[in-house]
Amino acid sequence: MITSAELRASFLDYFVERGHALVPSSPLIPANDPTLLFTNAGMVQFKEVFLGRERRAEPRAVSAQRCVRAGGKHNDLENVGYTARHHTFFEMLGNFSFGDYFKRDAIEFAWDYLVRVLGLPPQRLWITVYTEDDEAADIWLNDIGVDPARFSRCGAKDNFWSMGETGPCGPCSEIFYDHGPEIPGGPPGSPDEDGDRYVEIWNLVFMQFNRDADGQLTPLPRPSVDTGMGLERLAAVLQQVHSNYEIDLFVRLIDAAATLTGCDDRENKSLRVIADHIRSVAFLITDGVTPGNEGRGYVLRRIMRRAIRHGYQIGCTTPFFHRLVETLIAEMGAAYPELVAARAHVERIILLEEERFAETLEHGMRLLEEAIATLSGMQIPGPTVFKLYDTYGFPTDLTADIARERGLTLDLAGFEQAMTQQRERARAASQFGTTSNHAIDVQGETEFCGYERLQDEANVVAIFSA
Ligand code: ATP
Ligand code: MG
Ligand code: MG
Ligand code: MG
Repeated sequence: MITSAELRASFLDYFVERGHALVPSSPLIPANDPTLLFTNAGMVQFKEVFLGRERRAEPRAVSAQRCVRAGGKHNDLENVGYTARHHTFFEMLGNFSFGDYFKRDAIEFAWDYLVRVLGLPPQRLWITVYTEDDEAADIWLNDIGVDPARFSRCGAKDNFWSMGETGPCGPCSEIFYDHGPEIPGGPPGSPDEDGDRYVEIWNLVFMQFNRDADGQLTPLPRPSVDTGMGLERLAAVLQQVHSNYEIDLFVRLIDAAATLTGCDDRENKSLRVIADHIRSVAFLITDGVTPGNEGRGYVLRRIMRRAIRHGYQIGCTTPFFHRLVETLIAEMGAAYPELVAARAHVERIILLEEERFAETLEHGMRLLEEAIATLSGMQIPGPTVFKLYDTYGFPTDLTADIARERGLTLDLAGFEQAMTQQRERARAASQFGTTSNHAIDVQGETEFCGYERLQDEANVVAIFSA
């Protein structure tokens, strides 16, 4: 059985042999790009090259890029624990052409690598192209000879890729793997395409435009190629398991989490969430993020607290999460020496957050359980959500995560109202020059956390009301 590490090496070798410069993964914090929360794709470090503002010596590159999708345009936080294929942190394998080859070579490389090198049966693959992309359709159907029964044209939602609200973008062509009829889900473009039967493994993006702040598309100086394939999804295919959480690396992380938390059921969703979250948390800290109350730091804190809460859920009330760093390093340290170098720091930061949240988690959980026990409808009342947020340090997405497990939702309008009321009270108190102690409850995390945090909460509101 091919391991994840061998698969990563095989991909990089394949493209190096075809004239691609091997480029190391960039950090998760994009350099000089305030438009992006985290590196969410392999192309991020090449953004300026695609835009024609930077030149590279080599016109072709290949990388295995660490990515986080837990905020901003690409946000998979709410998928973790619910689908077989999404992580907050994953590795994206990608080959790139900066004005060198275009659609034909990109498609031929991808097919050759999957079918000839890795030996995937063509009848298990499904291809999509952008509705209007006749050129790509022609290459797939007539040159590669893909069966039209396993081919579809899809709209912009799936087949026009963008890094964020602005930046390089273009039509794309995607390759899916059919995990078999025993798994629910329809082919791409069908009404039940969101199931996990057909898993998207590789996206070939034909970078052709730059989208500006007004949404206007302007052609890039040179049409380029940007591809991305999730290492964990590919490993699942080659290791003949359906879920990413059953591949070599995750089996060992889940085993370690099971031992540390004392939970014997390897299928337990909380173990999967914990195994996922240790990767994003450890790599975000390695790359310089620390838990805080706004922006990137708040996203990190939210991921950490969700993991800690899942540990609590399966009966673990003492710090355990930081101890998973050891296993993560055993699995990924060879590919990412920066993680090894940062180990002591990473463990310390995680332990501190575990200790900090332990002070309020149990009380908050008790309050929430009481609220749920006495609930009349299916919504957790806004004032409860607010109190959990304000006094017990429960980010709203954490409360929503618990609610979802019980088939409940949050009254987010009520939460917003409670938040506004508290701000008004605080403002009134400061205008009258009083001390704030009778107007606001100043314990735990009640400090005003700035606009960005409110914006994060607003994003959560948007996600959950969508
Ligand atoms: P999906 O439709 O399954 O959410 P996507 O279309 O959002 O995937 P792309 O933006 O096209 O994904 O990214 C390129 C590749 O990266 C995907 O084909 C997939 O293999 C991988 N990938 C994307 N998101 C994730 C994730 N959250 N976890 C693991 N792998 C991912
Ligand atoms: Mg997605
Ligand atoms: Mg997709
Ligand atoms: Mg895609």
